[in-house]
Amino acid sequence: MKKLYIALIALLTGISQSFAQTDYFFPGESFDSTIPSPEEFLGYPIGDWHTRYDLIVKYFEKLDELSELATLQTIGYTHEHRPKVILTIASPAHMGELEQIRQRQLQLADPTQEKPDVSAMPSIVHLGYGVHGNEPSSAEAAMLTAYWILAGQSDLAKRVREEAVTHIDPTLNPDGRDRHSLWADSNKGFPPVADPLDREHNEAWPGGRTNHYWFDLNRDWLPLAHPESQVKVEWYHQWYPNVTTDFHEMGTNSTYFFEPTKPYGSENPVVPRKNYDDINPLFAKYFAKYMDEIGSLYWTKEVFDNSYPGYGSTYPDIHGGLGLVFETASSRGHLQASQRGDISFAFTIRNHVVNSLATLEASIDNREYMHDYLREFFVTAVDEGRKDPAKNYVFGDEFDASRNRLFLQFLLDHKIKVFENDTDLRIGGQEFKKGKSWVVPTAQPQYRMVRTMFEYVKDFADSVFYDASAWTMAAAYGMPFSTTPAAKLGAEINSVEAPDYTFPNGKAYAYLIDWADYFSPKMLYDLQEAGIHVEVINRPFKSQTQDGPVDFAAGTLMVPMGFQELSSEEVASKIQESAKTNQQKVYKVETGLNLSGIDLGSNSVGAVQKPKVIMLVGPGVSGYEAGEIWHLLDTKVGMPITKVNTDNFGRVNLFNYNTLILPSGNYSGLSEASVDHLKDWVNRGGTVISLKSASLWLNRIGLTKETPVQLEEVEEPAELPFATRRDFEGAKEVGGSIYLARMDLTHPISYGYRQENIPVYRNTNIFIQPSQNKYLTPIRYTANPHLGGYISDANLEKLKQSASVVISPARSGRVIHFFDSPNFRGTWFGTNKLFLNALFFGNQMD
Ligand SMILES: [Zn+2]
Repeated sequence: MKKLYIALIALLTGISQSFAQTDYFFPGESFDSTIPSPEEFLGYPIGDWHTRYDLIVKYFEKLDELSELATLQTIGYTHEHRPKVILTIASPAHMGELEQIRQRQLQLADPTQEKPDVSAMPSIVHLGYGVHGNEPSSAEAAMLTAYWILAGQSDLAKRVREEAVTHIDPTLNPDGRDRHSLWADSNKGFPPVADPLDREHNEAWPGGRTNHYWFDLNRDWLPLAHPESQVKVEWYHQWYPNVTTDFHEMGTNSTYFFEPTKPYGSENPVVPRKNYDDINPLFAKYFAKYMDEIGSLYWTKEVFDNSYPGYGSTYPDIHGGLGLVFETASSRGHLQASQRGDISFAFTIRNHVVNSLATLEASIDNREYMHDYLREFFVTAVDEGRKDPAKNYVFGDEFDASRNRLFLQFLLDHKIKVFENDTDLRIGGQEFKKGKSWVVPTAQPQYRMVRTMFEYVKDFADSVFYDASAWTMAAAYGMPFSTTPAAKLGAEINSVEAPDYTFPNGKAYAYLIDWADYFSPKMLYDLQEAGIHVEVINRPFKSQTQDGPVDFAAGTLMVPMGFQELSSEEVASKIQESAKTNQQKVYKVETGLNLSGIDLGSNSVGAVQKPKVIMLVGPGVSGYEAGEIWHLLDTKVGMPITKVNTDNFGRVNLFNYNTLILPSGNYSGLSEASVDHLKDWVNRGGTVISLKSASLWLNRIGLTKETPVQLEEVEEPAELPFATRRDFEGAKEVGGSIYLARMDLTHPISYGYRQENIPVYRNTNIFIQPSQNKYLTPIRYTANPHLGGYISDANLEKLKQSASVVISPARSGRVIHFFDSPNFRGTWFGTNKLFLNALFFGNQMD
């Protein structure tokens, strides 16, 4: 009723020119005066402040309240509990049948259903903004664009209302946005300070680009490690938008970038050529037209990457839509000096506003064409999948039920069809047992995502990568997998169920917990937190259990009932509760005398120390790596971790902890006294877990003495054209690729693993030789380690001669070096346990 009343008022009062500011963003446009502009609502001109996220949401709530053309939904919450919202705008007629429109779009994307009449279907446009919190112009542009669509009186605005259903996500990363906005606003000067050195333009570590756990959400559309992307991708699959935008900022001295991106070199191998060859150039003409009109400079093609499937501008390309990345020169702050004079925040906002409008115009002009393309995309996907010689991918880890469940859920989240494997298979030395393995056929609408999950790509049109060059998700999950034409498909998997293990009742001598399951570390920490004493059995053995004789591997946990402070009943009840929560199977034994192998009181059994962990963070330290570790311990282990800034390290008494984590970084600023304290603590029993460049620093301070790989340098040309320097030097980087490593399964770092070979993720040029001590290189590369992604021949040679994990003993302590990325992007579930083994079993490694 209220909406109707307001609409009537609008009719009576007519249309008025809004505040003068709208002239800057929308020259010549008239607006419906019943809808407040962002300036009217906020009380300041857009560009004067970095608008707080809650006010952006409030503005959208106001639009929802005032206009029957707009509806706001909350699709989820961020880590810091900010709502994730989407504002949908459409004509009253389309608003009245939104659900039917959505169903028709799903029908269009499903080749098994009849193709709907696309001439009657509105264009589905998804305007996404602000995935990087410190690229703030886009969220301001989102408010202005919403206002224009709802209240604009031009023919184009009316057409957009009639011919499109527009979904606006004002900020993909609200937590990062507020972190940066608070910085920029609280450091703003009056008058504004354009000097790039001013504090306003240089936010404190870790900056607002990333989310709560310091992850780049513009890499998370594939891994789905965070709620922001989980709910986003879930929403995406409810709509299959024809066009999706992703607005960014780049260096202050640059201009504006729109797609097409770099031809071939930066294109994703599974995306149809039509996307790159026809559609991108078609849309680019619109962007150029709008930018020409305001005289803003721009460029295309040269740099930005479009290959990694986890970008917000690439994922849509793999789902029958068009994903578009835009980058504006950044004012990073309210006003900043550039080579073209001072760049204002409003200027950067206007660049994104005009490209939002250009996207809308291009989308409705090519409405039927884009619908036909969406259909064609999924029809050809099934056809190509049918012809793919792989036919089926079969996968499954016989020993790790939780990791299987995580991977199954992950495939379902990406709408990939998965079936039970109905027959025991043995393929190339790998076994896939019925009931413990699953099949993904290639002939399915999500065929191109199936390739993304299972294919290794090694041949590239380019050798310089903006980001990762490998993303085989089955490898990241550490899944044994293979192709097979012979698979027998069982029931389709529609949901992933938790197991229901029966807890063994009755008197126990000890309880045993297998360490192979992904969540066994979580249960271990949970028991330790409850005050239960847990030991680890360092050799294989066979025990008589409630299920009869069972073979156990080295690394099995034991809770000996004779050495507990709590009563037997309390211990048993806590184990039962924890096993249920963490979905772990628990075995009960009634004697310490084993059927074979060592007995339960052997000298090869040791107490597991409860980790007390401290990690150095702050300027110079890799926020991504630190964030991955923090995220792992919080969300997968439930273990607190003390994060200390390097400039506070002088106050730390390391003897209050037993494990220090040094992510990649530069620690040369630590004082001599701090370094001495660190050495003393390690020598007296402390464990350092060190990643990549941190290990180089430990070498420099003399705590470790590991040797870099030295090859005879390949002769380089004495002179090269200046213009080739980026490509030539870039080709030497290891930008993110996958290698096969070999584990010493008897070493505690390998506890929980049953297979010798394991895929690892590497994104560093640091190559360290295996240890001089023959027992202390538990993970090294295989003879032909290259599985996927780009690496130069010279680097591959170095890699083959280097180690993945090395232990350096230091009197009573030790340093555990990782030269790969065991926790990469919160998605390398297959190698997380290596890292957690270092955390729990560091003192078993001497
Ligand atoms: Zn960005």
